[in-house]
Amino acid sequence: MLVVMRQSATPEEIRGVVTAIEARGFKAHPIPGAQRTAIGITGNRGAVDAPVFESLPGVLEVIPVTHAYKLVSREVKAEDTVVRIGGVPVGGPNLVIAAGPCAVESYDQMLTVARRVKQAGAHLLRGGAFKPRTSPYSFQGLGEEGLKILAAAREETGLPVVTEALDTEGIDLIERYGDCIQIGARNMQNFSLLRRAGKARKPVLLKRGLAATLEEFLMSAEYILSEGNYDVVLCERGVRTFSDFSRNTLDLAVVPAVKSLSHLPILVDPSHGTGRRDKVSPLSRAAVAVGADGLIVEVHHDPNAALSDGPQSITPEMFDRLVSDLRQIAPVIGREL
Ligand code: PEP
Ligand code: MN
Repeated sequence: MLVVMRQSATPEEIRGVVTAIEARGFKAHPIPGAQRTAIGITGNRGAVDAPVFESLPGVLEVIPVTHAYKLVSREVKAEDTVVRIGGVPVGGPNLVIAAGPCAVESYDQMLTVARRVKQAGAHLLRGGAFKPRTSPYSFQGLGEEGLKILAAAREETGLPVVTEALDTEGIDLIERYGDCIQIGARNMQNFSLLRRAGKARKPVLLKRGLAATLEEFLMSAEYILSEGNYDVVLCERGVRTFSDFSRNTLDLAVVPAVKSLSHLPILVDPSHGTGRRDKVSPLSRAAVAVGADGLIVEVHHDPNAALSDGPQSITPEMFDRLVSDLRQIAPVIGREL
């Protein structure tokens, strides 16, 4: 249910509606818009008694939200949401590129890649300190030490840091050292992790699960918003299909679908989406053309020696070329880079 306030509604009237919602044991989510404020109601098991709210001062109307997901839906908020990661706006007119290695391997490796992607024009730095690896014998990441290295790379380059949390303790640490909490594909339906991310004071990058439908993806984002964290960026990173020429099948059709159903920004990850270095640049160009708000790309200065995801990591030289190609595509679709 959504309580739509009049354009002329005062802050007291908005507070009055919030209080009335909470007095019934529900949760109120004020969503300021360009024209007027709307207040989402969640936590109700059955129907909400609309006339009760309609009679409150400042209320224009009370409308049902038809989708199972509420707060992430365009029904509740028509305007695009712009999420700030560090100082970088994601979801506005400017395309955003997050780049860096799959994993933080050492101070020298991370700083080398960070300097190069900064020079090429990246806006955000990626790098995993906690790695979700299929095999327990594979490199698992440097943990807190990796986060300290990322913080040092941010210090030098000025690039805000996006890094993955595998568990709630990881979120505690990223709140301390990082700028954006990545929830990986394997954890998209880890509901306790999503709830903790919803209480975090940092924005969240939520990656689509390997076999998640669009509705499941949006419902996972809803978990985070329902706990009060509205700063969520979605990320398409490929899904499992029968196709065997790439690691995953990058579902670019989900981008316009997300755009029509949700106000949240969406990035595309062509690295995990393809698993192959030679496919990263072509799919990046396509992702931008199809309307993604930006990319998250794995870059390594020596990909063949990378401790994780070397085969899909592009070199800094390939990244330079990619950014210059994207600079040509961006204006064609009304974006800036
Ligand atoms: C990653 O970004 O390195 C990662 C593990 O991504 P995903 O969760 O999409 O597999
Ligand atoms: Mn990776």
